[in-house]
Amino acid sequence: MHTIQRAHKIRLNPTPEQEQYFRQAAGNARFAWNWAVAILRQARKDQTTLPLVGDLKKEFNRIKRDQFPFVMQTTKCAPEQAFADLQHALANYWHDITKRKRGIRRKDGKRVGFPTFKSRKQGDRSFYLSNDKFTVDGPWIRIPKLGWVNMTEPLRFAGTIMSARVSERAGYWFVSIQVQLPAPERHAPERVLGVDVGVKALAVDSDGELFENQKHLAAALKQLRRLNRWLARRRKGGKNWSKAQRKLARLHLRIANLRADAIHKLTTHLAAKATVIALETLNVAGMLKNRTLARAIADAAFSEIVRQLRYKAQHVVHIDPFYPSSKTCNACGSINRDLALAERAWVCSACGARLDRDINAARNIRDEGMRLVGAERLTVPGSGYVGT
Ligand SMILES: [Zn+2]
Repeated sequence: MHTIQRAHKIRLNPTPEQEQYFRQAAGNARFAWNWAVAILRQARKDQTTLPLVGDLKKEFNRIKRDQFPFVMQTTKCAPEQAFADLQHALANYWHDITKRKRGIRRKDGKRVGFPTFKSRKQGDRSFYLSNDKFTVDGPWIRIPKLGWVNMTEPLRFAGTIMSARVSERAGYWFVSIQVQLPAPERHAPERVLGVDVGVKALAVDSDGELFENQKHLAAALKQLRRLNRWLARRRKGGKNWSKAQRKLARLHLRIANLRADAIHKLTTHLAAKATVIALETLNVAGMLKNRTLARAIADAAFSEIVRQLRYKAQHVVHIDPFYPSSKTCNACGSINRDLALAERAWVCSACGARLDRDINAARNIRDEGMRLVGAERLTVPGSGYVGT
């Protein structure tokens, strides 16, 4: 049976004691990570053979009772997952080096560094629970060595529970539960839909359908800009300043939620319209030079759209970022090179067709997608790498 994995992130209502446990479990995960990273970095400095993460984990488990008794007070999943995360981080690091040796770079232009220490201050306080270590019952989740914790809503999916991660953000605690579900049957029509992921609008498709950024998202973003301006004028560290910082963190959270909601609606709708969705691979590394664009791209959350389409749509086709989708006239195929990015509507200098920039781009993306599917070059890149 074909299955998919979905995650439901639920806010928790912990008691102060439970919150204390969460902080401690997250601290224990961080402790195990830092303990192993210290050994790895030392070995690297001494230019000796790096120990295997599996051996580090065995050693940690051997000595924890005597040397780190505090890790015994929370779930053993917390330090265990730290080793799994470390294994993963190292694999990414080696993978990046191998790719670079072959002259292949990441699309975002970033390098994957050697694993570093995690500080207490970092926003990412979290710990992991494997599926045999917790139970969900209605709006309650049972966590080892802690008991039942109240969730603000019950788990949305009825399927096989795979794992969970408890995390903190903006002073709230959340649990993200991974569930395996049978893949839904798809009835989308057999065709290619081109999608131009937008700067102003969230997206425009080749049918001419426009997906606006939600109004309350725009309002929240406006509020964010105002708050940031206010903060910039205040002296760092004051009481009002800290208060505003907390407000800022909650606003970021609210924006993330609104955006996730808008993107879920968009991707569900698109996946129902066509079996093949063609998208332009945004060259984010190249675009970040333009700050306005960079913010808009972040808002549109292109990578999240792609991630969701990968499990919602049958096929996702990526169009080369150098393909001139906005400058090619979809009516006659000629390329209007001197077109500025700001021009929403333009007239083709070759055939005189009046074109809406975004719809025209979406149609070109669709046609290029059709060509690629026809050429049987249908690929769903998963590695995040692009050849140079
Ligand atoms: Zn034309």
